[in-house]
Amino acid sequence: MPPVESPVKPYIIPVFIPHAGCPHQCVFCNQKAITRSAVQSPSTPQIEASIRSYLKYLTPNRKPVQIAFFGGNFLGINRREILRLLNAATPFVQEGIVDGIRFSTRPDTLTKDRLEILQGFPISTIELGAQSMNDAVLALCRRGHTARHTARAAHLAKAGGYEVGIQMMVGLPGDDDAGAISTGRQIAALCPAFVRIYPTVVLEHSPLANCYRKGQYTPLSLSAAVSLVKRLYLMFQESSIAVIRMGLQATTDLENGSILLAGPFHPAFGHLVIAEIYRDKVIELLKASGRALEAVTLRVNPKRISAMRGLKNENIHYLKNRFHIRHIDVTGDPLMSDHHISLAMDSEKVKLFAVTE
Ligand code: SF4
Repeated sequence: MPPVESPVKPYIIPVFIPHAGCPHQCVFCNQKAITRSAVQSPSTPQIEASIRSYLKYLTPNRKPVQIAFFGGNFLGINRREILRLLNAATPFVQEGIVDGIRFSTRPDTLTKDRLEILQGFPISTIELGAQSMNDAVLALCRRGHTARHTARAAHLAKAGGYEVGIQMMVGLPGDDDAGAISTGRQIAALCPAFVRIYPTVVLEHSPLANCYRKGQYTPLSLSAAVSLVKRLYLMFQESSIAVIRMGLQATTDLENGSILLAGPFHPAFGHLVIAEIYRDKVIELLKASGRALEAVTLRVNPKRISAMRGLKNENIHYLKNRFHIRHIDVTGDPLMSDHHISLAMDSEKVKLFAVTE
């Protein structure tokens, strides 16, 4: 199976609508904290000004450019307001400055009636917040929908011609590793164009914060979350589904801990996952060699050097200790494919190749 290339990464211009259209607050959620926006429904001039300010940073040839309504339940908003938001964004597409519009929404609000509201607007992508495909976990999270809603919504959106992405979470209340993998499998069976995977963290002023304080919820450790998301990432790769995000987008409030009570947040979470995949592949290669080694040279594409080394050279330290290797060198080779590692041992002409992603 060839590695899955990420789809061309769009330049996203976010318009945050925290909790707009949400029927209630899901246990893990506090969008006001995540998006750092207190305005649930930005005015049309605010939306236009925000889009223009993001456009200033757009580099030439960066395509596609999409305006994204994030942080709420887009199709749960009342019809008049949906039309107002879309009418604020659409002129940028009509003028050819932006290529399309995307939004995230709950699966249970994506119905034929709601999709009709979108007719005539240049919407390219719909992201469904599935979070889990286990109904007991969804109930504990007070999501208010079931896995069937997600399956139905994915089919409806695809039938409407939209690109569909699905968001899932790990470490949810009542979930475990096997449950998360099962969720991943069921999501892969829906054949979305892409997925996002978020580890559950405990945010201040979320219902989960109370459970955590009462000792009723224990988040995943960072290392457990990285290992689990790694398994999911590899599984989606096997199904040729791109994983476009792993871990919450870093914000100042998350990084300084002011809104983060507990949980596996890391500003470079996705990098930790990819680095662990690289480390695993080298472990496989070294085990296969079956010899004690003095020195090893790992050659990768220059873009992959940091993934091979791991954060703060953690992979190098780990491999040296585990295999008692005195010296490990990582070199960049532009001729190497993006997804291979070449390993040379003790200056012998021994080279092994491994598909890493
Ligand atoms: S997870 Fe989605 S539906 Fe639930 S409260 Fe947050 S934004 Fe609203």
